[in-house]
Amino acid sequence: MKKWVISDAIVITSDGVVESGSVSVANGKVAQISTDDISGAIRIDVQGAVLSPGLINAHDHLLGTYYPKVGNGPYENWLPWDNDLKSSPIYRERQQIENADLYLLGGYRNLLSGVTTVSDHIPHFVGDPYYDTLPMKAVREFTMAHSIASFALAWGGEIHTEYQAAVDKKIPFVTHISEGFDAETVQDVKVLNRQGGLGEYSVLIHGIAFSKSDMELISEKGASTVWCPDSNMYMFNETTDIKMQIESGINVTLGTDSPMSGGLNLLTEMKFAKKLYKSMYGEELSDEMIFKMVSSNSAKAFHNSLIGSIKEGNTADFTLVRDRGGSPHNSIVDARMRDILLVVVDGLPAYGDLEFAHVFESLGVDYQEIVVDGVDKVVTGDLIGLLKRISRAVGFKKEFPFLPVDFDF
Ligand SMILES: [Zn+2]
Repeated sequence: MKKWVISDAIVITSDGVVESGSVSVANGKVAQISTDDISGAIRIDVQGAVLSPGLINAHDHLLGTYYPKVGNGPYENWLPWDNDLKSSPIYRERQQIENADLYLLGGYRNLLSGVTTVSDHIPHFVGDPYYDTLPMKAVREFTMAHSIASFALAWGGEIHTEYQAAVDKKIPFVTHISEGFDAETVQDVKVLNRQGGLGEYSVLIHGIAFSKSDMELISEKGASTVWCPDSNMYMFNETTDIKMQIESGINVTLGTDSPMSGGLNLLTEMKFAKKLYKSMYGEELSDEMIFKMVSSNSAKAFHNSLIGSIKEGNTADFTLVRDRGGSPHNSIVDARMRDILLVVVDGLPAYGDLEFAHVFESLGVDYQEIVVDGVDKVVTGDLIGLLKRISRAVGFKKEFPFLPVDFDF
């Protein structure tokens, strides 16, 4: 793969912010970070835009990518929501679309919000055939349970077997947990621990019913958690005590969940998290903390030290955003879709402003010109074709607010 250079960026590196920095990319990796100009035949001058590690969405269900939200909460736990979902007209509408296209829809929803890696929560036999087709990446290696309750969907094997496999391979063990308030669900952390599923490889999604002692145990065991505030508020009008989680020293990450219960994308989720925290606690959740939740904390949770930070030798996954004039972290948290200037996945551009089309060409990436939210952009693959296929499948022009892309139908 050819070497190329991004110059004049505000670079958020693992060692702090480099003003007016240059970053070179070779063989899918970060080759060099410098305050001096780096030479190279292929280069872009980004004129002071903010170069962030590619964002990580710590919880999604790609097959569940659809719109609008479905539900009639608040619910006692996830099960009646799942029943409402599966008996809804919107679910029937979604069922007319090929799984391959729902996966692509989920991939583009993430890509256009600056996400380079997503954790897709679904059994391997469902998701694995599609991960190579995505315009960005899914976490490939994980073990799992749907949830801890006796009424969990049969997505994994025995908890201790799944967890032991995660330990052996040093990969995450991912499960929903404490998602509700019934007598069984509030015991989830204790049950998980008893069954040998709680440790540094555990990635625990939701935790709405976590008690203080649950959080102390999770922290002591070194497990990670995923906060999905929009989904929680929609389904339960309640969320986890995230302030207590952070103060307990838990490695906290942020996820969207599917757009049929959660936020439109990771950009709206970051803003939702900030606003909700303010209303719950009367104080600010810092932009730096939210940034960590979608970058280094997530990399730690999924046991992949090569993503989530810009560092020489790391994977070249980047999200370039417009500088909003405040802190670089604020430019990410407050970014709108149109502010995502360029997304780089494994060293290759996947989405960005039309002015960067020459980099796609020079690096041999096929792209399509699109208009997103009124702004000219280019994207890898055939997003317009996907949107047309989906509209054909459901029989009318189906538009998604998380993909505000112009297309004819
Ligand atoms: Zn979920």
